[in-house]
Formats: sequence, structure tokens, C-alpha cells
Amino acid sequence: MGEYNELMNCQVKDQLVSRLIALNNKLNLLSPDLVHGDEERAEVQLERENLYAEIKHHRAKGHDGKPCPAARQV
Ligand SMILES: [Zn+2]
Repeated sequence: MGEYNELMNCQVKDQLVSRLIALNNKLNLLSPDLVHGDEERAEVQLERENLYAEIKHHRAKGHDGKPCPAARQV
């Protein structure tokens, strides 16, 4: 595909995606051997679901009710 287009960039989308990556990393680091591992994983998973919903909403109408111009990069 073509070259990187800065106009297609969206900081909000980037932030949401970095948060998602951070949560995924956190989830991977939580060992099943930890005493509260299950509880913590459940919390992180819930956070991740909320974040997915936020990303979905932003992609659909995050820009004054209009779709995110960077949505295709998510
Ligand atoms: Zn956006």
C-alpha cells in the first residue's frame, strides 16, 4: 500500500491503542500462580472490554459524531 499519510493520523486513536497494548502486556505478565492472579486477570479483562468498546465508539463517531479518519489503521 501507499506511504504513511499524516492526515490519517489520530492521537486519540493512538492513545486508545497504546492503552490496549499495555493492558494486553499486563495480562500476559499476570502469572496464574499468583494468589490473586485470577481476580486481577478478570479486572484487566474487564478493563480491556471497556477499552474495546471505547475504540469501537471512537472509530464509528469519535470526531463530532463522524468516523475516525485513522480508523482503518486500528
Ligand atoms: Zn480519531
